[in-house]
Amino acid sequence: MNDALTPPVSYRVRGPVIDAHVHLFSPGVIAARVEHLDCDDWFCALYTDPKSRMVPFERVIEEMDATGVDRSVVFGFAYRDQGRCRDTNDYVIEAVRTHPDRFIGLACVSPEVPGAIPELERCFDAGLVGCGELFPDGQRFDLAESRGLDEVAGVLTERGLPLNMHSNEPVGHKYPGKGEATPGPCYDFASRHPDLVTIFAHMGGGLFFYEMMAEPRRVLANVYYDTSAVPYLYRRDVYSVAATAAGPEKLLFGSDFPLISPRRYLEDTFDLDPTIRAAIFGRNAASVFGLDGAPERQGRLA
Ligand SMILES: [Zn+2]
Repeated sequence: MNDALTPPVSYRVRGPVIDAHVHLFSPGVIAARVEHLDCDDWFCALYTDPKSRMVPFERVIEEMDATGVDRSVVFGFAYRDQGRCRDTNDYVIEAVRTHPDRFIGLACVSPEVPGAIPELERCFDAGLVGCGELFPDGQRFDLAESRGLDEVAGVLTERGLPLNMHSNEPVGHKYPGKGEATPGPCYDFASRHPDLVTIFAHMGGGLFFYEMMAEPRRVLANVYYDTSAVPYLYRRDVYSVAATAAGPEKLLFGSDFPLISPRRYLEDTFDLDPTIRAAIFGRNAASVFGLDGAPERQGRLA
């Protein structure tokens, strides 16, 4: 698979490449995958199909090296059960400690289950720098009115740390993982937490379009959209359409690896304006995750 250690010229990005959306699973969970299916409805929905890949962090590093990704934002799986979130976070902490120059880690917590805030604090003390990817349907909280989620958002806002939230389109084909986290509830959440840096995964289910309206533009000032799963959902013009609607500074490259390789996104955008491409593939994430030299944020990632 290591056939692209030197990517073709058209594939290269001006500046560092940061993948803002990568899932990790520990070797223990991968080995006990079938037993694990009974434990969590959402995990079962996404991973019953043996073709849904699960990888440990060493495999992520291999893919990053093969495709030219400098750093990846990694997280586990957002279980409904807080204990399983804790286990998944332990593995992300181990990944970040093993490769501090390659990985940036986020914590998963179950917002409506007691213990979410202490678990978040534990993860921050251990070096994780945000929360996500949370799954409203799988973890059974309502984006429009979850008190537990509001508490999580409050802690993140106070610390200036980002939240990655799963979202999906309200229209189109059904697929495992598609639920109620559509642009309306996402917008309600952002309205309640306008100062929180929120990254809505999977292009916010189309929420970026409404940034063309004046009031949503203000409400969504601290919202970003990651590109995870775009090749499965949209024509590749969506990158330039979203850059026009929301601004190129609001888009973060996220692969959703191991679902899709970073290579696919790099290939699909080879003809995008190079400045916009550099922003989407690295510069914006560097700013969101404090890798751009802003002194108040840099310390947290040391
Ligand atoms: Zn997702």
